[in-house]
Amino acid sequence: MPGLFIKKAEKEHRLTKDELTAILENDGINRELFDAADRVREKYVGDKVHLRGLLEFSNLCVRDCLYCGLRKDNKNLKRYRLKPGTVLDFARKAVSYGYKTLVLQSGEGDFYSTEDIASIVREIKKFGVAITLSIGEKTEEEYKLLRQAGADRFLLRIETTDKELYEKFHPGMNHENRINCLRTIKKLGYETGTGSLIGLPGQSIGSIADDILFFKELGADMIGVGPFIPNEDTPLENEQGGTFEMSLKVMALTRLLLPDINIPATTAMESLDPNGRLIALKSGANVVMPNVTEGEYRALYRLYPGKICINDTPAHCRGCITGKIRSINRVVANDYGFRKKIFKV
Ligand code: SAH
Ligand code: SF4
Repeated sequence: MPGLFIKKAEKEHRLTKDELTAILENDGINRELFDAADRVREKYVGDKVHLRGLLEFSNLCVRDCLYCGLRKDNKNLKRYRLKPGTVLDFARKAVSYGYKTLVLQSGEGDFYSTEDIASIVREIKKFGVAITLSIGEKTEEEYKLLRQAGADRFLLRIETTDKELYEKFHPGMNHENRINCLRTIKKLGYETGTGSLIGLPGQSIGSIADDILFFKELGADMIGVGPFIPNEDTPLENEQGGTFEMSLKVMALTRLLLPDINIPATTAMESLDPNGRLIALKSGANVVMPNVTEGEYRALYRLYPGKICINDTPAHCRGCITGKIRSINRVVANDYGFRKKIFKV
């Protein structure tokens, strides 16, 4: 039966929760699933791979997400916050390597005023690139200001659609508010990116199926899923963590149901498998987010252990990933890589 569901999803881009669950529970049909996702990727978004340069501009955070190395209670981490001039400097370098999109990511909080971030956005926009922000929960006014400053996209993972689990892993945070933030981001005209962590302790297969249905219901433009990787500096240090295979399955199913969106081969996947990003690119993904953070900051932005390329330079990463993409007969895109809506839900 799950094999038939894959065929149905490849044609109709629809599945019920029960059908999604059946596929997620059956590992005997993984090859069929990955191949179907690869065909749908080729049909809707083609062979071009979009590179987004990830600039990790601060590891300070006011939140205490139980899984994350940047959580405020982790005292084993040297904290940094780049000065606006340094952010611009790293951004300028990244643009010189050919990136057409920069993703500005940081921990959450008011370590910069919204006006400071808006002014960084305005300056970087002058370099002629698209900007994605990934700076957590803000008020509608703040999201609006940043959008007006020129930010094109916003990335905020729902992490899990299981409300109880969400609130257990995010002390002091509220699941409805997370959803409201995403709806606000969408309403303001950002290309909206979300996604979830796979393999959180206590996460059921049914709730992962709900995650995928949520992505579709929200009308997400970009979905990043990755395995939860236990961090020894957090309360979840002794937990199991998610698997590469399950993350890949969720990613492939996301491609089948949302055929024309952008889907990154995530760094966390490559941390679990040295060929993780290439395997992901052959199973539905069409985006890679190489790191453009310079110097020691790369290692200090330690969400989880085993993060790849912490001793490499942005120039090296750019060359390395381009070679890898070519090795699987795909091409690096040189446009902005906005989502082109083809499939009507
Ligand atoms: N503070 C912002 C952006 C930085 S965190 C935010 O939370 O939105 C970026 C992503 O890192 C999070 O969405 C989370 O899914 C991921 N992450 C954090 N800790 C992780 C871990 N231990 N394993 C895998 N991914 C993790
Ligand atoms: Fe902070 Fe984001 Fe990590 Fe949560 S996931 S602790 S908000 S950096």
